Amino acid sequence: MSQSVSRLLLVEDDEDDYILARDYIEQLSTLAFEIDWVTNQQDALAKMAENRHDICLLDYQLGAENGLTVLKLGIEAGFTSPIIMLTGQADEEVDMAALDAGAVDYMIKSELSSSRFARAIRYALARREIEKERVDRLKAEAENRSKDRFLAHLSHELRTPLTSILGYTELLMDSKLGQSAQSELSIVLNNSKHLLSLLNNMLDLSKIAADKLELNLSEVNLDAMIADVYALMTIPAMDKGLTLSVSSATPLPLKITTDATRFRQVLINLISNAIKFTEKGSVEVNLWSEKRNETDFLYFTVADTGIGIPNEQLGSIFKPFEQVADVVSRNQGGSGLGLAICNELVSKMGGEVSLTSEFGKGSCFTAYIETGDISQVPHEVLKFDTQPLTSKEVNNQSYQGKVLVVDDVNDIRMLVGHMLSGMGLHVEYGKNGLEALDKITDAHNESVPYDLVLIDIHMPVMDGSEAIKHIRTNGIDTPIVAMTAATMKGVRDQLIYQGFTNVIEKPINPESLMVVLGTYLQPGAAENLLTPDDSQLKRHSTTEPSEQHILLVEDDPDAADITALLLENLGVDVHIAHSGKECLAVFSQRNDWSKVLMDLNLPDANGLKLAKELRKNAPQLEMVLLSGEEPNSSEMAEAEISKFILKPINKQVLTDLVKG
Ligand code: ADP
Repeated sequence: MSQSVSRLLLVEDDEDDYILARDYIEQLSTLAFEIDWVTNQQDALAKMAENRHDICLLDYQLGAENGLTVLKLGIEAGFTSPIIMLTGQADEEVDMAALDAGAVDYMIKSELSSSRFARAIRYALARREIEKERVDRLKAEAENRSKDRFLAHLSHELRTPLTSILGYTELLMDSKLGQSAQSELSIVLNNSKHLLSLLNNMLDLSKIAADKLELNLSEVNLDAMIADVYALMTIPAMDKGLTLSVSSATPLPLKITTDATRFRQVLINLISNAIKFTEKGSVEVNLWSEKRNETDFLYFTVADTGIGIPNEQLGSIFKPFEQVADVVSRNQGGSGLGLAICNELVSKMGGEVSLTSEFGKGSCFTAYIETGDISQVPHEVLKFDTQPLTSKEVNNQSYQGKVLVVDDVNDIRMLVGHMLSGMGLHVEYGKNGLEALDKITDAHNESVPYDLVLIDIHMPVMDGSEAIKHIRTNGIDTPIVAMTAATMKGVRDQLIYQGFTNVIEKPINPESLMVVLGTYLQPGAAENLLTPDDSQLKRHSTTEPSEQHILLVEDDPDAADITALLLENLGVDVHIAHSGKECLAVFSQRNDWSKVLMDLNLPDANGLKLAKELRKNAPQLEMVLLSGEEPNSSEMAEAEISKFILKPINKQVLTDLVKG
């Protein structure tokens, strides 16, 4: 076996002792050394400053000079390898002083044996290895921390300009100015949304790489969740003329324990891919539950009749940035990150993803996740199936009136809202039963009741059933339709008994929505189909005084402008501050602020610290943090900020904020 040669620095003024030490060194069976011999302090320090040796043997008595001084000065000069002090005779005080000054060991020349010598050297070198590993680990940790910081920072930097792009595009699309450029604007909008999803994927992947991705487990209504995913996915499937079906091979538990957001993310990713890579035919989702070794699992497959994946790529497709035939994927605008993330998420959820595919015929992804104990949970069979329908057929209908849509899942609120506004209706939103109760009661008391309310049943804070109880007890007879999962058919009578006017099955599809709308609303004139336009991208000039005064603290001028513009279009009086200093000045101008929207990173201040400063004079004021990166929750709690908005900010987020 070839030995690696180590460098040894021997600081010894006595030639006999040098020869003795050299003999011992040469006797070492498994170690080979190249020896540098120096005899005085000056030469010793010059060599030590180079820090090129792996070990140093240092004589305590260097003529008139003291080895201890060389030891201390050598370490100061940058020598980091182990130093063993060679002392003349046993003197505990000297030995201790050497160890205190940084020597790793000492050897008494008069008592030296080859075995003692070998042990000391080996031990010192092993220590050096351990120390090196420790330093390498610390360095790697520091590098990772700075990589995380870099990603968080990058995310923030990218999200802020996206706010302007998405915000202005949405505003233009709703305005007369934008009517003639709808298709161009929708390209800008789609690409910005794509950029945002890339950014989210990149962050997910970096969290996974740093082992920082935590699951947030809770009890999830499986049927309602699947119905929501189905409803979201029918739109892109419909646009491509594909049939999307979701069914269960066995009765499914109505509740499971999982991370709802991450599970939804996996399902949406697999189904969107299936739709993306299929031009004709169908996408079929099938689910079933299975028990193995006392653990309950939920299985699901997503099968398509699309382009398929070549055999040789089946193994690599779950790796980041892997895509089949560049051209195909480029045309589809993917990043090659989605499946890598799904794979990691599913394995965190106690399962696996696998794939079978026939090139040119279609693919089938199979995955399973743990569900927690479902032995006591009721089970039902699921089935949602629609024929392809073009969005045009839906948009031909028009109604008039004001509708409130209440659902805790943002995408579902948006989806239902989008269908309704496409039919000419004025739509408002709520996120839970309590918000619904407040809004319905206020509208009723002000004699401008909603013409219709669509409300989800399972929601945090207050569920739909609790809300209807209060609403009906207060004598409000607004038509309120419960949105509930298809499997809960037996529950329909019970919901009507609770006071709901009607029940609409989730997944909400445009046809069933039209039936409900036709029952409760008047048909509208054709021009209702165009979004009412009150803005030419000008600041909103309203004759009524604004009820809300919002201080917006944002240093990016474009992001500040679009956020203010969107807020003003919601009838809010907005004051902008571009820096911490300006914020303090503007803030002192009035004492009736409704809210402060505070960017986290300002050029001259930290948003959280600034919020704390404002809090001193306004203990009750609602403050909302805006940021492109997730803030530290304990720092937020300390600054008494309960709300956080992740950039990019859009019209909907601000509507929820102002009207919520
Ligand atoms: P992206 O879709 O953003 O490119 P993914 O990681 O989700 O990234 O997918 C990686 C690649 O796997 C895709 O680019 C595509 O080549 C292939 N792929 C994924 N799903 C399918 C599918 N259902 N049918 C055919 N190819 C697919």
